Amino acid sequence: MGPAQAQPAPQATSTEVQEGPPNILLFLVDDLGWQDTSVPFHVVPTPFNRFYRTPHMEALARRGVVFTNAYASSPVCTPTRVSIMTGRHPARTRVTDWTLYPDVERQQRSAPWLAVASPAWNARGLQPADTTLPQLLQRAGYRTIHVGKAHFGALGTPGADPTNLGFDVNIGGHAAGAPGSYYSAARYGNDRDGPWGVPGLSSYYGTDTYLTEALTQEAAAAVEEAVGDGVPFFLNMAPYAVHTPIMADSQYVDHYPGSDSVEAAYASMIEAVDVSLGALLDRLQALGVAERTLILFTSDNGGLSAHTRGLTALGTHTHQHNLPLRSGKGAAYEGGIRVPLIAAWAAPDPAAPVQQRLPITPGERTSDPVVSHDLFPTVLEAAGVLSVQGYRHDGQSFAAQLDRTGKQRAERDTTHYWHYPHLWGPQGPGLEPFTAVRAGDWKLIYFYDDPRYELYDLADDLGETTDLVEARPEVVRRLARTMRAWMQRVGAQTPVARAAGTPVPHPPLPD
Ligand code: CA
Repeated sequence: MGPAQAQPAPQATSTEVQEGPPNILLFLVDDLGWQDTSVPFHVVPTPFNRFYRTPHMEALARRGVVFTNAYASSPVCTPTRVSIMTGRHPARTRVTDWTLYPDVERQQRSAPWLAVASPAWNARGLQPADTTLPQLLQRAGYRTIHVGKAHFGALGTPGADPTNLGFDVNIGGHAAGAPGSYYSAARYGNDRDGPWGVPGLSSYYGTDTYLTEALTQEAAAAVEEAVGDGVPFFLNMAPYAVHTPIMADSQYVDHYPGSDSVEAAYASMIEAVDVSLGALLDRLQALGVAERTLILFTSDNGGLSAHTRGLTALGTHTHQHNLPLRSGKGAAYEGGIRVPLIAAWAAPDPAAPVQQRLPITPGERTSDPVVSHDLFPTVLEAAGVLSVQGYRHDGQSFAAQLDRTGKQRAERDTTHYWHYPHLWGPQGPGLEPFTAVRAGDWKLIYFYDDPRYELYDLADDLGETTDLVEARPEVVRRLARTMRAWMQRVGAQTPVARAAGTPVPHPPLPD
């Protein structure tokens, strides 16, 4: 060494990098049902698990914890997505239905067979004044990347653009909740007018690249850039799949010979999502950051089963695509709200400091009930953002539930609520305005049209076939009190009586 020279500013050493916050990949599939995978979420593998091909989800399950009682915050898209972003229950944000048009009147859907209609809900959706998960992560030094379906804020509002909500990068996200097309030949729906063309992927037009794959390539590039820049990333990987329109990915559709053509197409969409997960895991490995990347893989509502779908692998039809669960997307029953959830380190390594701070026991399953808005505090805890001063949210971190080695796990409130004072659209089981509560194995639902309670014991009757309202009045009374108190606490809006134009009362206290 020669005489003293000006030294360059010290760079973070590899040890410091190792001890920094983890990367977080939230992989939020759209409309992926509880049975739409080869990973069993039921107590036994089902015919659906044998039909679908999701080997990368299976590999992820082996690396981490499978939640068999995970729920979406809502049976439809936007409310769940906003709840993940804010940690707030849809009843509190009042973003209780899916968004598109910012004026309630235009967004209003009613049906002649219902006596009630939507309340004056927050049809604008998530907006920049709201506190959001990516904002908080940005302040903690994260690069925040949104890829795919956003569907946070209505058309023409600032919240339609994820970069106004705390994301540094937005790839393909805007107001609409579905793509006009999954095909590059149709420019992902930009070949026609309307709100459904996916923005920002023009370099893929005409390249025969399926939408899920285009989004995956863009996501991998954004991750690589963050790693190259030495910053931790939060990737909200939200493929438009497997939402309608059901359009086959030609690379995989031949894997389902002999099945209903719509169901083969649907299965190929799921397999494309699984391939996307695998590609991102491979990229993390190649970049040398798999040991320090937390994966949270889930869906925003139950699987579609009311329309558009075909004859299932079981030979069953409408409302039976989530069996043994009853009904599907939009419904009060389990098929509408129960979702897959897997939490894992991309590459388990007990010696990695980030993993010692947040241990995840590989290959475990838990029946602990958790819900989408629990992701908000869980992600913040993983990121080391422990206090959000003065901010009131409804989530409970499940980070402590990920260590299954027998150490004391955090006590959690296991009572969960769903509130959907809307008509989603199609007719079918549980597809009407409702509020529901699950406490232990009991689930009480209140339907506002033709007002009535229904009570189910999920331990004995997961398919919600036997209504126990008459048999167990004391349980109905107890849960009705719990439901009413919660609705008052969060300011839940009841539907409006169409004849009178005024909100209907909260669910009654039975005698
Ligand atoms: Ca959805």
